[in-house]
Amino acid sequence: MVGEGRLDAMYMFVGEAPGREEDLQGRPFVGAAGRILTDALLSAGVAREEVYITNVVKCRPPGNRKPMPDEVSACLPYLLEQIRLIRPMGICLLGQVALNAILGLGSITRARGRFFEWKGIKVFPTYHPAATIYRPELREIFFSDIKRFVRKMQA
Ligand code: URA
Repeated sequence: MVGEGRLDAMYMFVGEAPGREEDLQGRPFVGAAGRILTDALLSAGVAREEVYITNVVKCRPPGNRKPMPDEVSACLPYLLEQIRLIRPMGICLLGQVALNAILGLGSITRARGRFFEWKGIKVFPTYHPAATIYRPELREIFFSDIKRFVRKMQA
């Protein structure tokens, strides 16, 4: 599963890895977490077709476990090439795996909600939308982070 969206998108969203639903459909973020991301985008006034959405790891890890470091490093060149081709102004990193893969940072709690400069691109980590399923108190933060990121991209 490669990713989907506009190849001339101004900004991208990068998740962890496809889940079961994504694996079946061959599209990123089309399961429960995807509905939350789509809703957060809509509440920021953006349709998901306008952006580019992908994952660090391109295949579903067995049993939905977190990707192993060697799986991340095997897929990372692919993600870097996607970023190089799309040349986004900004990238929203969804969760710790994406945060670690791109910025090499470990704590999403500490990094979220801040803009980082990476290769001339504005990179903005936030929680993974799936985290807001298990921790509903994060939902509002996630929605407002997405809104902040989109506003900055449109500024
Ligand atoms: N979680 C992810 O990280 N990516 C998807 O595409 C779906 C769920």
